[in-house]
Amino acid sequence: SRINVAIDGPAGAGKSTVARKVAQQLGYVYIDTGAMYRAVAYAANRAGIPASDAARLSELMTTVEISLEPGADGQLVRLNGEDITTAIRSREVTLQVSEIASHESVRIKLVEMQRGLAAMKGIVMDGRDIGSHVLPNAEVKVFLIASARVRALRRFQELSGSEIVPLEQLEKEIVERDRSDESRQISPLTCAKDAVVVDSTELSIDQVVTVILDLCRT
Ligand code: C5P
Repeated sequence: SRINVAIDGPAGAGKSTVARKVAQQLGYVYIDTGAMYRAVAYAANRAGIPASDAARLSELMTTVEISLEPGADGQLVRLNGEDITTAIRSREVTLQVSEIASHESVRIKLVEMQRGLAAMKGIVMDGRDIGSHVLPNAEVKVFLIASARVRALRRFQELSGSEIVPLEQLEKEIVERDRSDESRQISPLTCAKDAVVVDSTELSIDQVVTVILDLCRT
């Protein structure tokens, strides 16, 4: 029978690539919860709301409708119908999303959505608080880690054209985002007590996928 798989960990550990492949192999639906927080950050940005403004963000949450749908190459993200799949990957959004994600009004709405999506089982969900808070009963929980340098390097290799940022700068931003995600009051980035820690520093994507699929089959 179908199960739910939670994959958490710090920024750039390879969660989304791995989670997508695991979902493909199992015939499950992949859900990228980071994309949902990014969608809110994008919406706030466009509405001119600073990431620190709890009151206006709370108001914004009553008007945003975020939807995720499986697309040809990965998950399509929509904000009130508009395709923002590419826009949410911008540097601007990346630098603001953690503070946006620290607000209670934001988390309450998104966590409720995430639980609704997982209700029918057969979900692979990646994020920061999935095993520890969103889906505490997920049958398989993985906490995926890798050294900060390797995570920065992987991100660096994905950048192109005008986006190029020095590797050291990227590493600094990744470490800062982790620190911010770990230190927020509400459901911070944490390894659930019953999660299996997988260190991908010296593993290929396919090796990590194999480890997780084995966990799903036992
Ligand atoms: O996974 P990704 O790097 O796209 O996530 C962007 C940000 O969204 C994270 O740095 C974190 O601040 C927030 N997030 C969260 N809880 C999740 C997933 C993401 O707070 N479950």
